[in-house]
This record gives sequence, C-alpha cells and structure tokens, in this order.
Amino acid sequence: MSLCYGDTKNSLENRKKFLGSIGIDYRSLICAKQVHGKNIEYVTEENKGRGALDYDSSFADIDGFITDKRAVPVAILTADCLSVFIYDPKRPAIAILHAGWRSTEQNISQEGLKGMQNKFGSQPKDVFVGFGPSIRSCCFEVEKDFKSNFGFGLLKKDGRVFMDIALINQRQLVDCGVKKENIFDPALCTFSDDNFFSFRKEAQVAGRLISVVMLK
Ligand SMILES: [Zn+2]
Repeated sequence: MSLCYGDTKNSLENRKKFLGSIGIDYRSLICAKQVHGKNIEYVTEENKGRGALDYDSSFADIDGFITDKRAVPVAILTADCLSVFIYDPKRPAIAILHAGWRSTEQNISQEGLKGMQNKFGSQPKDVFVGFGPSIRSCCFEVEKDFKSNFGFGLLKKDGRVFMDIALINQRQLVDCGVKKENIFDPALCTFSDDNFFSFRKEAQVAGRLISVVMLK
C-alpha cells in the first residue's frame, strides 16, 4: 500500500481496490512521511488527498492524525510497527497512530489522546482503541542490554530479551484513563504470519500494510 517503500508498482491499484471495498475514495486518503516521532496532525476536508496519489505530498514529520470531520480518511503505513486506532463515539472523533518502539517510548498513544482531549474534548473513558497487526513479543527480540524508559514490556526468555509493544501501548492508554475492556487487540504477529509485510524479516524490500480510519 506504500507509494514509497517496497514494490510500489501496484500500490495505487491496491489502495483503490481495498479502500473502495470499505467505502473510501482512495484519492481522499491522507498519509504521512512517518519518522518514529510523536507529532500528531489535526486534519480536515482541506487536507484530503495529501499523500493519496504521491508520497511527496504526504505530511512531513508526522506519526499520527486526529480528526472530527466526516469523510476524511487518515492512514498510517507499517511493516512491524503497531498501528493504534482510537474512536470517540461521543464527539465523534478518531485518531490513527504509528507506534513503533521509538514512538512508543515517546508515548505517542498518550499524545494522540491528549490531542483528542484538547481539540475535541474527548474523554479517555469514552474511547475505543484497536491495534493493527505488528511484530509481537514472540518475535521482537532486542539486545540483551537494550536501554529504554519502559518500566514494563521487556520480557526475559532463556537469556534473551523480547519487547511487547502492544502491551506497553495498552498500559500507556490505561494509565491515561482508557478502559482496558475498550482496547481491542487481535494479537496478529507480522513476523510470524506470512500474510503480512515485516521489516525485520524482509528489510528494504518490505512493503507496507495500511491502517486506515474514517468517520462516515
Ligand atoms: Zn511472532
């Protein structure tokens, strides 16, 4: 689905097919040049189509979008990183976040919630969260002396260290007031399941999965 990484020759056609099947015009899609940071952009109708037909028009230095506008589809592209979908049915409003370990370390989930709180008055207790497929703790091995500010989420197994990005994001969201039962985690591992692209497995040739959300 990426217009920049992996084999891109069918990407537009793939987007058209997939997005069309869920009622989204692929020409309206809003994408980012993701940088593993924590910057979140508020987008509206005016921004529709940025990154839809070419990579260059994507938002630069952004790893998440929030909007309260209808028919404004926002997307994150991943290959192993966790995508975080947030939906506030009360406002209504949505967010999509790109949470690799670096963004997770900067607590992008909290940034997304804060953005929705400040901009829309969203209350964490009201929101529903969904996780996309990502590399899971079964496969995400890190260096034995891996240093991070995570107080949890690093699992030791037979002298090796594995990271649980989904668990960390879940805890960060719950710490902000999101109800645990409102967080939906399909627990799909991009590394062990060949249906998905995996940067750790395929490196530079890896394509990207799309995580997209839109208020109807
Ligand atoms: Zn796995």
